[in-house]
Amino acid sequence: MQFDYDLFVIGGGSGGVRAARIAAGEHGARVGLAEEYRMGGTCVIRGCVPKKLMVFASSFAGALEDARRYGWEVASGGFDWPAFRTRLDAELDRLEAAYRAGLDAAGVTVHDSRAVLVDAHRVRLDSGETVSAKHILVATGGSPDLPEAALAAGALSSNDIFKLDALPKRVLIVGGGFIACEFACVLNGMGAEVTQYYRGEQILRGFDGEARGHIAEQMREAGISLHLGTDVIGLRRGAGGTDVASTDGHERRFDAVIYATGRRPNTAGLGLEPLGVKLGRKGEIVVDEWSQSAVPSIYAVGDVTNRINLTPVAIREGHAFADTVFGARPRKADHDLVPSAVFTQPEFGTVGLTEEAAREAGPIEIYATAFRPMQSAFARRPDRAMMKLVVCSETRRVLGCHIVAPGAGELIQLAAIAIKMGATKEDFDRTVAVHPTMSEELVTLRKPLRTA
Ligand code: NDP
Repeated sequence: MQFDYDLFVIGGGSGGVRAARIAAGEHGARVGLAEEYRMGGTCVIRGCVPKKLMVFASSFAGALEDARRYGWEVASGGFDWPAFRTRLDAELDRLEAAYRAGLDAAGVTVHDSRAVLVDAHRVRLDSGETVSAKHILVATGGSPDLPEAALAAGALSSNDIFKLDALPKRVLIVGGGFIACEFACVLNGMGAEVTQYYRGEQILRGFDGEARGHIAEQMREAGISLHLGTDVIGLRRGAGGTDVASTDGHERRFDAVIYATGRRPNTAGLGLEPLGVKLGRKGEIVVDEWSQSAVPSIYAVGDVTNRINLTPVAIREGHAFADTVFGARPRKADHDLVPSAVFTQPEFGTVGLTEEAAREAGPIEIYATAFRPMQSAFARRPDRAMMKLVVCSETRRVLGCHIVAPGAGELIQLAAIAIKMGATKEDFDRTVAVHPTMSEELVTLRKPLRTA
């Protein structure tokens, strides 16, 4: 059968764009790609990139204060949100254009349209046109998942934050995951009065317990009113704000309520199930280690598969798919020892096993330290950094590294290389410290704090 394309990609985010560019540009496939919104997807348009720029923007309040303590005469006129937003919009336009240019250069045909599956080899576009492809890659990502009652009361999601006309003064953030904690810190840094409700006993469930406690403490120290074991029971929107009743028996008023209660894969209405594509409990496309769905011509990568929902993972999955199917170079995306960073203030960088998970696996030694970094100590700031290594007592391998410190996202990338290579505690020990730095602590942790 003659197809219009060798590959049709649905979704112009990190995973879809990488797959399309590699398949067309490196392996010579005829590739079409449909994107219904803006090229770049969640990461570029309403996720990692604008979030990180907001993290930078919000960090200047502390930096200005520090500058004074270091002897500078500084006057701050306060944060100008509209000015920042104008620049942010311009930057996102620039990045979107770069994504398009990359696809063009690779020879990918872009359709600015939603695409819905018709059968195992055909998709229908908004125009009514149907196009066929030998292979279809679904890379439609995910969307914020808000309870109905929150939506009805006008609660916002992370998508809305970047589009606010003005910065709200009193903000409630609901949730305790990546997004909730990052935005609590960002908005606090920008001068909002931030309250955060999390229903569980400690934020950032699934991460290392000690690091979670350390971050929660630092967030409180920075002025965030963090309420653990607290959930919303009712929201009422009025002229003066939103009144929120919570399980701690209080009713508080906020100018904005932001829900960061998880994300769901974008599979609704794509026509997947009638074709035999298997969906999981959250609606994610179930794929094998080659990113192939239950229908052989249909593959999926990125958040829509709800494996590890991180941009670099989606990129690896997209690349591996393109090499396997079009490059005669079969390879699987490696989901082991994936490092990540939570851009709280201070940041959290993590790779490998948490202390809790490692305990289950066998005997371990824990090396850890918490200290006031030199830069903060001089500025009389209370910030404390934390560095921790989880070591297997038998093999001596470092199983996990957890860093809460300014720049932890940068530090963990490098620690992750050593850990991925199988470094032992002794390899860390024989590496000479770089002085004076914070990260020298990682190679000078002499005695285990505890064993288990
Ligand atoms: P998460 O799944 O990480 O967190 C969701 C939070 O909301 C949890 O604390 C959860 O509580 C809580 N929650 C869920 N449902 C409800 C509810 N009905 N009422 C109250 N609370 C609720 O999702 P995020 O939205 O924070 O992030 C989604 C994903 O995006 C992340 O897992 C990550 O993969 C990715 N991401 C990565 C970033 C990075 O790399 N820096 C940044 C942002 C996102 P509980 O723990 O009890 O379930």
